[in-house]
Amino acid sequence: MDKLQAQRRIEELKAVLRENSRLYYVENAPVMSDFEYDTLMHELETLETEYPEYATPDSPARRVGSDLESGFRKYPHKYPMLSLANTYSLEEVEEFADRVAKSIEDGFTYSCELKFDGTAICLTYRNGVLFRALTRGDGIQGDDVTANARRIGNIPVRLKGEGWPAEFEIRGEVLMPYESFERLNHEKELQEEQPFANPRNAASGSLKLQDPEEVSRRGLFCTLYHIPAGQVDYPTHNSALEAAASWGLPVSEHRRICRNISEIEQFISYWDTERKNLPYATDGIVIKVNELDIQTRLGYTAKSPRWAVAYKYKAEQALTPILSIDYQVGRTGAVTPVANLEPVFISGTMVRRATLVNEDQIRALDIHEGDWVYVEKGGEIIPKITGVEESKRQPGALPPVFPKVCPDCGTPLVREEGEAKWFCPNSTGCPTQIKGRLEHFVSRKAMNILCGEATIEQLFSLGLLNKPSDFYSLRKDQLFRLEGWKDRSAERFLDSVNSSKGVPFERVLFAIGIRFVGETTARDIARHFGSMEAIQNATEEELLAVPEVGDVIAKSVFEYFRNPENVAELEALKAAGLRFSIEEPAQKASDALAGKSIVISGNFSISRDDMKALIEAHGGKNSSSVSGKTDYLLAGEKPGPEKMKKAEELGVRVISESEFYALVGSPSEPQKPQIEEIEPTLF
Ligand code: NAD
Repeated sequence: MDKLQAQRRIEELKAVLRENSRLYYVENAPVMSDFEYDTLMHELETLETEYPEYATPDSPARRVGSDLESGFRKYPHKYPMLSLANTYSLEEVEEFADRVAKSIEDGFTYSCELKFDGTAICLTYRNGVLFRALTRGDGIQGDDVTANARRIGNIPVRLKGEGWPAEFEIRGEVLMPYESFERLNHEKELQEEQPFANPRNAASGSLKLQDPEEVSRRGLFCTLYHIPAGQVDYPTHNSALEAAASWGLPVSEHRRICRNISEIEQFISYWDTERKNLPYATDGIVIKVNELDIQTRLGYTAKSPRWAVAYKYKAEQALTPILSIDYQVGRTGAVTPVANLEPVFISGTMVRRATLVNEDQIRALDIHEGDWVYVEKGGEIIPKITGVEESKRQPGALPPVFPKVCPDCGTPLVREEGEAKWFCPNSTGCPTQIKGRLEHFVSRKAMNILCGEATIEQLFSLGLLNKPSDFYSLRKDQLFRLEGWKDRSAERFLDSVNSSKGVPFERVLFAIGIRFVGETTARDIARHFGSMEAIQNATEEELLAVPEVGDVIAKSVFEYFRNPENVAELEALKAAGLRFSIEEPAQKASDALAGKSIVISGNFSISRDDMKALIEAHGGKNSSSVSGKTDYLLAGEKPGPEKMKKAEELGVRVISESEFYALVGSPSEPQKPQIEEIEPTLF
């Protein structure tokens, strides 16, 4: 490689790594495996060492990936929160141990620990009380997630015991156990929302929610593994953690003090299999020098401590044959091919099925019937087929034929231009679609009716339930005689059906299951039009006037109301007493925002509708786009980049949710944070 080629490759690698780092840390939706990412990072590090003239301080090889997001107050870390040097090879762990041994003459030990695969958190305790929780951010400053950390069950708000310093920081990881992750993704699937790729992304997305109540429902927990040296008076990392545990802090017990490389390797090999029995994700082992004075002497590079290294386990892969392919129909009629595999054990669970996504993916992988395929768990959890072992292909094997008709109801499938999936258009007669819609209707964020999949299946197969309005005509005498039902369960079920009549209009709009209308869009549309009737009468152009509603959603809503079966069903739901319009606007609270024009963007700790209502209640005017007349852009979590850019161009003041509360002097004003200008220091 000549110099020019090296320079080009460095630029290319920097761009690819930056984009993937954003997808991973900010969007929580990585598209590349960690191994691929780490291999590219390694290539960049090597090239920058060979050609230092092209190495810039902002290179991803010299910075930790940033999770900072607008909409959060930022505070500096007292001590930088860095990454860890990582390797997938045991030889490199040995090299690390040799390097440390050569530079340190005194005897020392290693603390070997699990590398938890969640999202990093830094907790500050002041006078024994949880004072602040920050994400890693860009390593120098982090996003303030204190309100959310308080909702994580095992993070103590108050320490017990004695001996804790007046103020200290302790760091660790917030994790989502597999069980909570599966539950969350199941809920997301029912609501046709994008599921999280793995528990790490789910944990980090949940920690950044603007809704602490929802955080407490997500089943997160925390494990702590580091008190920066200099804050506590203990000789070793291990003794500092033992003290922390005695103060009631959740410190992982899966640690071992090792004296040499062979003990380290034993620990690595033990956990290679044993970690698969843990209820949460781990992706390696961290090996740290245990003596705090030696840690201080070894110090840091710009990106990681010199006294630690992470050995990462490669995502497990297995080779197994496809037994058959199922074509599954979802509640919107989309058909997804799913491969049934010869069961194979990967990362602690038996994998029997893996998605083939759509017809194009089957072609891209060049799948033939009976092929042996490589299966991997993306982020160690969702099985995916990554390739085919062509040498094992049976002579004469043919590519699978994608069905022309719905596997469930026999209706010819359609694939519209620009769609990646085939659809069954028989939305009112296809059993899977009907049951899927009923499941969506009863789900927690929709009508919240106490009714599981099995009950829907039972009532559907008995002809008692076919469409959502049927719930409201079910009678006790029809239910309590059925298999598995008792007097009491029939009553509880009917009570819950009855209570659902009080569900606000925006959730009713979400519950009826218009394609592409998720929870947030339903809220925006409901708020904009105020009633079902107004939405029904709206033209596509009028629907497009709702912020965040584009062509696809507008068309889908418009068409939904043109279908006579849908209209008849809505009439039945209205007659049953469901709410078909929003409440009266809130009473005026103050004039704090009189004459101010405010645009909101992103998500808040309250719903966007409630936020708009609050603005109006304080005399402000909501407007949908940023212009020269806008006084404030109120930016929540993940504000629209276009709006942020426009605000910057026009010099419109961008305010956060807490600044908004300060402005209106709302009683719900969060505790005002004090910014402490602490110079980050390496020690
Ligand atoms: P890392 O995850 O490799 O290691 C550092 C982190 O490990 C620390 O910040 C800490 O949060 C965590 N950790 C867990 N257990 C620990 C323990 N016992 N002691 C100390 N720390 C512990 O590094 P990173 O900087 O957070 O992330 C970089 C890695 O993220 C990359 O190596 C890559 O694998 C992955 N990544 C992947 C993509 C992608 O597109 N797939 C993109 C960006 C980053």
